[in-house]
Amino acid sequence: MKSISIKELSNYYDKEVTISGFVDNIRNLQWVQFVIIRDDTSKVQVTIEKSEESNKEMVELIESLPLESTVKITGKVVESPKVKLNGMEIIPSSIEVTSKSDEELPFNFKDLNNVNLDTRLDYRFIDLRNDKNMLIFKIQSDITKYMREFLYEKEFTEIHTPKLIGTASESGSEVFEVKYFDDKAYLAQSPQFYKQMAMASGFNKIFEVAPVFRAENSNTSRHATEFTSFDVEMSYIDSSQDVMDLEAELIAYTFDKISKKYKDKIKEVFNMDIVVPKLPFPRLSLSDIYKELEERYNYKVDESEKTDLTTEAEKLCYKLSKDKFNHEFLFVTDYPADKRAFYHMRDENGLLLGYDLIWRGVEITSGAQREHRYEEVVKNAESKGLKDDVKFYLEFFKYGCPPHGGFGIGLDRLTMLLLGVPSVKESQFLFRGPNRLNP
Ligand code: ATP
Repeated sequence: MKSISIKELSNYYDKEVTISGFVDNIRNLQWVQFVIIRDDTSKVQVTIEKSEESNKEMVELIESLPLESTVKITGKVVESPKVKLNGMEIIPSSIEVTSKSDEELPFNFKDLNNVNLDTRLDYRFIDLRNDKNMLIFKIQSDITKYMREFLYEKEFTEIHTPKLIGTASESGSEVFEVKYFDDKAYLAQSPQFYKQMAMASGFNKIFEVAPVFRAENSNTSRHATEFTSFDVEMSYIDSSQDVMDLEAELIAYTFDKISKKYKDKIKEVFNMDIVVPKLPFPRLSLSDIYKELEERYNYKVDESEKTDLTTEAEKLCYKLSKDKFNHEFLFVTDYPADKRAFYHMRDENGLLLGYDLIWRGVEITSGAQREHRYEEVVKNAESKGLKDDVKFYLEFFKYGCPPHGGFGIGLDRLTMLLLGVPSVKESQFLFRGPNRLNP
């Protein structure tokens, strides 16, 4: 008999079913054994009466079975209001052990309060057995699903760009070099060039969800050396405002869906409120932000630092956005273009036609209108000292390329902020950082 998931059991009262899962708990009493089985949808109690002669073998098996072993159990589902766990139980007719666990686990994953994070990451497969940790990835999966759903509805095409590249793209400073037969290759630090290639190929709207690699030797709560980026690009835009509008709509749609499915659960498990953001999202220029931060909160920084948001200013943007706009998100615009990548379009005053999106005090996105005019993009590349490395890229703009723009959202950061977990180390399935390449 094919196993069904534990969540579905209430559709099978008085029927014989097979379930598979981990042995979550055993209570071995004088007359009865209660065995709790866990799969990734729920838990259920299996009740074995010791007095029943036909249960003898199962009783003996359970007596010596270590917790966290996996089993396949066939039995009858019985509605049973007195059972605290979902008001049901399974009366088994057979139990097969499909894998036996060691008696002693590396740590108690049901109570992680005193377990060191490095130990947890060393044994991430055990750590993820924790209900709360598993929930993070159920929710992350739905975030991706709803974002995809939104974009598919708008007729975006999902593409898959190469992660092994021949030249150190963009700036060259943050890429991992890998041996490539007798030559060198690099791991892509973003799909930027290939997203734009799709525009030059005539795709109007594309997106990609994929890993990107950054050789950043920084140990902060929001940086990883490999993370998942949700990248979007679209053609025939009039300005970067169109890009911001699309991103705001995408986030509002996704949060609405996540809220409908998980609002109460997120409150119960993570003690976080999910607020579905209103459209449009507020926008402020970088210089106006510094003015407001000084006026409102007496936050002062040296002029020389005002070419970007300081980490502290980023944090204060959350407060500012809430106080000024009653909104959790804030688009920050008008960065000086010379501090940014050469492929963004800039205006005649040298300001970037792009933005960062700040949520809950952290940058979650950079987006922009890109420079699609051949002469201009060549000039911008040269001003950054880039030539041969980006030759293939510059060609994209030589044979007709529509005006376009796009953005990239860090999925791990988005998840971290949504659920209020302390670091991307916990919102990434398996964290990669300067000091962590295993497991
Ligand atoms: P930061 O200034 O915070 O390092 P960045 O300006 O390098 O970010 P972008 O290159 O604009 O970031 O990348 C787009 C998005 O990807 C960011 O807004 C963020 O959500 C995510 N991101 C960037 N770097 C990392 C990283 N090292 N780890 C996790 N997510 C990241």
